[in-house]
Amino acid sequence: MARAHSSDEIRGLVEGFTEATVPDYQMAAWLMAVYFQGLDDLELSALTDSLMNSGRRYSWDGMDRPIVDKHSSGGVGDKTSLVLIPLVAACGLAIPKISGRGLGLTGGTVDKLESIPGMKLNLDAETFKAQVESVGAAIVGQSADFVPADGGIYALRELTSTTDSIPLIAASIMSKKLATGADTILLDVKVGSGAFMRDLAEARLLAKTMVSLGTRAGRKTRAFVSSMDNPLGHAIGNSLEVAEAIETLRGDGPSDLVELAITFAAALIRDSGLRSAPRAARELAERMLSGGYAYEKLEELVEAQGGNLEAFVQSPAHDKLGSPIVACAPLSGYISGIDARCVALLVRSLGGGRMQKSDSISPGVGIRLLKKIGDSVQAGEVVAEIYAQPSASEVMVSSAFLEAVEIGESRPLPIATVLSNDVGDN
Ligand code: URA
Repeated sequence: MARAHSSDEIRGLVEGFTEATVPDYQMAAWLMAVYFQGLDDLELSALTDSLMNSGRRYSWDGMDRPIVDKHSSGGVGDKTSLVLIPLVAACGLAIPKISGRGLGLTGGTVDKLESIPGMKLNLDAETFKAQVESVGAAIVGQSADFVPADGGIYALRELTSTTDSIPLIAASIMSKKLATGADTILLDVKVGSGAFMRDLAEARLLAKTMVSLGTRAGRKTRAFVSSMDNPLGHAIGNSLEVAEAIETLRGDGPSDLVELAITFAAALIRDSGLRSAPRAARELAERMLSGGYAYEKLEELVEAQGGNLEAFVQSPAHDKLGSPIVACAPLSGYISGIDARCVALLVRSLGGGRMQKSDSISPGVGIRLLKKIGDSVQAGEVVAEIYAQPSASEVMVSSAFLEAVEIGESRPLPIATVLSNDVGDN
């Protein structure tokens, strides 16, 4: 019969691991025990708090705007943060965003933004805070002193195949959200072939677990579960995704991305108390997007961080790779599926993602989908353009892409992007 650990025991374990008095093999054994036995609510809170307290924590006393944060559990083509961050800042919220790099098959906001020439993502804590105050938004990568215990534990989880554990994922994500210090937190849990969570029931459980950690810590926390069976939007790959985020902020975005960005912005506006009525919250977000204010905020944010948005727009990394490889439909019909996992594997194998944390990536590598689910295609018509290194084999790349594509005889029913939005709705 398993006995629970006390909060002090868990704190001692995490502190010892951070100070290297608890060796890796002991932590690995404990992670394996958690993987099989789970954690009760008290143990999970103690683990989350201990991770959060293992390094620097931000506080935002004296800010004149509500402080919000957003996290995605990771998806393929998921550039929602690139749209949402300037959008909510334009609405009057402040969003300090500490983002990750690409992990596994999913992309990371830091890698994407690095495709903008000059963009600095390693601001020191004072500059980060000052920019959040002046611009309303700043985006940085995780520094070594931010939740350091999570970095070490995450690496061990990868080595011991204990990544896939709901309490360990929840503690890892929420410790970082709580350390960032926002009062209002929105979580986007992705489910589907291109996500950590493959099954809706598991995704809802992860969402609920994270919402209760946030709520217990006194933060207004809400989670959405959204679909990741198909890539989000038309672009997959670092610089292609930045280009699509820019198009979206200029009023020409794909409907699934626009819907997610507006839905999340409206939720943050409401949960933070900026507007109380759902309709008013949504209208504010729509007005800031369609009026170009969110795009202006992106320009301000990029300039504040040393980036040159104009240089990116004139000559993005994907254009520098030369003409893309085209993948053409082998038969006529309707696109009924584009498997997100398959697409992500292809982009990674071409150099657009990482096999290992230390790998470098090619920012221009990626895919632009010219057809999405529900679109009709004729045999021979171009379904996608694939940006790869000139050495890549056209035939191999286009046939690998077409393995991800399903073409049916009849138009499929529309797929909802948001599958569940009621976790934390109180
Ligand atoms: N993202 C994280 O930060 N941690 C996890 O464990 C999984 C996804």
